[in-house]
Amino acid sequence: MTKQNITIFLARPRGFCAGVTRAIKIVEEALALFGGKVYVRHEIVHNAHVVKDLENKGAIFVQELSEVPEGSPVIFSAHGVPLSVIEDAKNKGLQTIDATCPLVEKVHTEVKKLSKSGYKIILIGHAGHPEVIGTMGQVTGNSLFLLEKPEDLERLPLKEYSKSAYVTQTTLSIDETTDIIKKLKNKLPEIKSPEGKNICFATTNRQAAVKAIAKKCDMILVIGSPNSSNSKRLVEVARSEGCEKSLLVQDVNEVSWDKIPSDISSLGITAGASAPEYLVSELLEAFSKRYNVTLKEVKTCKENIRFKLPAILTPKETK
Ligand code: SF4
Repeated sequence: MTKQNITIFLARPRGFCAGVTRAIKIVEEALALFGGKVYVRHEIVHNAHVVKDLENKGAIFVQELSEVPEGSPVIFSAHGVPLSVIEDAKNKGLQTIDATCPLVEKVHTEVKKLSKSGYKIILIGHAGHPEVIGTMGQVTGNSLFLLEKPEDLERLPLKEYSKSAYVTQTTLSIDETTDIIKKLKNKLPEIKSPEGKNICFATTNRQAAVKAIAKKCDMILVIGSPNSSNSKRLVEVARSEGCEKSLLVQDVNEVSWDKIPSDISSLGITAGASAPEYLVSELLEAFSKRYNVTLKEVKTCKENIRFKLPAILTPKETK
């Protein structure tokens, strides 16, 4: 039977960002340094395949520090942790290695500085996400207000926020955040903006790349985990750019082939910042088996940022 023709537009940049690459490397180097007995608090990055691969290499993932034996090495995930977790680890005599992405760390530093200078802080982000929990945990008391959606502004005690500043989660949708900031500034015209952009380069670049393919595609598949903030935002951005049929899939096994439109002629593929490239290859292979594929990579920018590992871990190639 002749296979149906399909053009696949592959967004680039996609997949692993510098912060995720660093976090994974930290676990691998720590396993080598400590002889394979290393604990990791929470998923190192939000991807079940990455977690499984590291478990196979010996990493032990835990939810709470109480599960880590006294004196053991424990790694904090790329999303960052509240100060109280660092304190708990110290009290327990654990050897900590921090895999918090330096760009999340930058937001932490900013929040602490603002709080010390007497600012009330508004954090734009999603409740319950580990990065938001970590950022909120950089200050004590009630000097931080979480703003998830414009309606939350109604609850904001404006008088108490006369001296205020805002920061954002690093992996939000740029367009939605611009809108919420505009509404925030209408309420608090004097509010201080962040020193740089809090939404990170990797999030920005992946959203720009998916925007560049959205209008050309009948359907877009975003590879990523359901708990990955930046992956979910890619689906939203693709839809808002006109590709209504945009879906999140964890891997090729989650593709419902009967849901692929029978008249499809163009498909877009991208991957969230924590999704390994081999998942993209597996997806392409599966499409090649069913369709006559013409592959077109759409590259919107080059990424060459790399982050240093913590001093305790010095892999040979960076010496
Ligand atoms: S998505 Fe951005 S903030 Fe998150 S790990 Fe990657 S570079 Fe860091």
